[in-house]
Amino acid sequence: MSNPEHIAISKSRGIEIDWQDGRHSTLPLELLRRECPCANCTGAHGTPPQKWQPDTNPLRTFTPKLKMESVEQVGGYAIRIFWNDGHNAGIYSYDHLRKLAEPVE
Ligand SMILES: [Zn+2]
Repeated sequence: MSNPEHIAISKSRGIEIDWQDGRHSTLPLELLRRECPCANCTGAHGTPPQKWQPDTNPLRTFTPKLKMESVEQVGGYAIRIFWNDGHNAGIYSYDHLRKLAEPVE
């Protein structure tokens, strides 16, 4: 497991991470939102997972584009993302972020 050396946040695009071992990860917004690790999104309480999906209904053109409102650090091992759709339960551990960026590992 490696920790981030630097995390660059773009609220409208996503997160880029430089890891201490020299790797670089690019995590687009929609990937992060879809892979939210909270209990609701993953179905951890025995309920069906409620995975986020991009809104493709053309009649709902008023739906605001997905964005991050803010990001805060959690205990030196994770970040918490506050989304503009009101969702903020996901704690993204560095381990999780690293796996998202390297799904083959
Ligand atoms: Zn979630």
